[in-house]
Amino acid sequence: MRTEHLPVARFVSGEAFDAPISKVVCVGRNYAAHARELGNAVPDQPIYFIKPASSVTWLEAGIDLPAGLGSVHHEAEIAVLIGETLSGASEEEAVGAIAGLGVGLDLTLRDVQGDLKAKGHPWERAKGMDGLCPLGPFASLAGREVDLGDLHIRFAINGQIRQQGSSAQMLFPIATLLADMSHLFTLYPGDVVLTGTPEGVGPLAAGDELELTLENWVTVRSSVR
Ligand code: ZN
Repeated sequence: MRTEHLPVARFVSGEAFDAPISKVVCVGRNYAAHARELGNAVPDQPIYFIKPASSVTWLEAGIDLPAGLGSVHHEAEIAVLIGETLSGASEEEAVGAIAGLGVGLDLTLRDVQGDLKAKGHPWERAKGMDGLCPLGPFASLAGREVDLGDLHIRFAINGQIRQQGSSAQMLFPIATLLADMSHLFTLYPGDVVLTGTPEGVGPLAAGDELELTLENWVTVRSSVR
């Protein structure tokens, strides 16, 4: 398979991961407060959707807002870089396969999504377009004590905090998500999982300066054009 056209995740050190991203699996409504802010019910099982590898860009390179498609919402999310193939995995196996943790924006064309939801249509037009998945660099887990159940993410626009949360607030914890989705989709090394967004989503505007942080491991800045 020719893979040189696929995006490749990087670590904070600058080192590239040794396999490309084949897909980004996203989790919807994984924080109760976010489900409520959009008027959605709290789900009784994880809601998944997939962004194609072609949607991935890099936060450091800046974000180009799609024109003429209504509001583009930020959803700041904890990103998990998969290091080993996972299929039908246990939670323990899934946790052992994590190569890195980082941050990403599940950019969403909110007006388009509203129309799709009203029609009962899939969300790809609102979530899967080129450029709608800007990711940051990943912190390697090698030699690091990690409590997956209490990871803190923060997102600021022009110096003002807009979203912050902890994985402790997730309806479905990271280990549960990875194991569960691996029974549906084989996760390949290099794949990325976006684990859902805390409350506080809202529109981006040209000129916005963004900062995302995960613990004190990853800090990445971006700007909106
Ligand atoms: Zn999301």
